[in-house]
Amino acid sequence: MKEFDLIKRFFAEQSVQRKDVLLGIGDDCAVIVPDERHHIAITTDTLVAGVHFYENADPRAIGHKALAVNLSDLAAMGAEPAWMSLAITLPKVDEVWLEQFSAGVFELAEYFNIQLIGGDTTQGPLSITITAQGLTSLDKKLSRNGAKAGDWIYVTGEVGDAALGLKHLQGQIELASVHRDDVLNKLHYPKPRVLAGQLIREFGSAAIDISDGIISDLGHICSASGVGANIVLDDLPLSTAMLDTLPQQEAVKLALTGGEDYELLFTVSETNKVGLETALVNAGIKHTCIGQLNGNDKITTTLNSEPIQIDSKGYEHFSNE
Ligand code: ADP
Ligand code: MG
Repeated sequence: MKEFDLIKRFFAEQSVQRKDVLLGIGDDCAVIVPDERHHIAITTDTLVAGVHFYENADPRAIGHKALAVNLSDLAAMGAEPAWMSLAITLPKVDEVWLEQFSAGVFELAEYFNIQLIGGDTTQGPLSITITAQGLTSLDKKLSRNGAKAGDWIYVTGEVGDAALGLKHLQGQIELASVHRDDVLNKLHYPKPRVLAGQLIREFGSAAIDISDGIISDLGHICSASGVGANIVLDDLPLSTAMLDTLPQQEAVKLALTGGEDYELLFTVSETNKVGLETALVNAGIKHTCIGQLNGNDKITTTLNSEPIQIDSKGYEHFSNE
């Protein structure tokens, strides 16, 4: 199967057909109709075989994750997903693999009404790049630099399970069979917090998605906003699977430094705290206050009201150079 047949068969057909797409897949460029009532948020993320997923990983999960990580970036800016392009490099044409990969992409795309409007298909080592665009509010912006000393720090969902799942796959721990599917699902099929992001945009002061671990990602908010933070480790939302598998100290460390949860970490002022909590409760979105920002220039942690040192950082590419 050649390049154009492949594009036609696996990528050109989709159920999402947005009115604001004038021209989708098939021409030299896609054409979208700008909307003066919104700003457009744009993000790109690449997944490389052997770095972000095992070469032989389930192709449906790879497709899901390639889009999910981009949607998670849109979520962190409070944007509503709209359009995406897909650049894929494949070692060979494997029809079964492509069928499942595209199903993984399109299932999630359909759920969030994001349309694939173009891309590029090339031969080489397996790698997937999605560029996603979303609509965001003209007057309410959410970014990393809006946080102030005194604001409260929150996370959505539970943290650390993706890293726990990875440890299981690497043979470093053994997940009990009752927890295995749930935890591995969190690693392979992360659910981007798109709705939460839109609510946080209305009330919050800053947000980031947790891709590299709480310490590292909170660090980005702190440096962008010029604040410090204290995290109350007793309050970290850990899953039953986590607590059943690891002793508390290790669980906490994994939750702080393990990446790929794709939950949102956000901050909110004392004034807007109740408003945001109410909005999240009404939407059925789990959220937990894990600490507070301050005027220092570092991140500290306390456990049982005692200061405690956390030695390891989140994941960084090139950190071994
Ligand atoms: P060009 O050579 O003009 O850059 P291509 O031959 O790369 O165009 O692609 C033909 C059309 O198919 C374009 O509209 C492009 O956006 C689209 N396309 C190519 N690869 C993909 C893909 N993986 N997913 C979606 N659309 C794709
Ligand atoms: Mg091309």
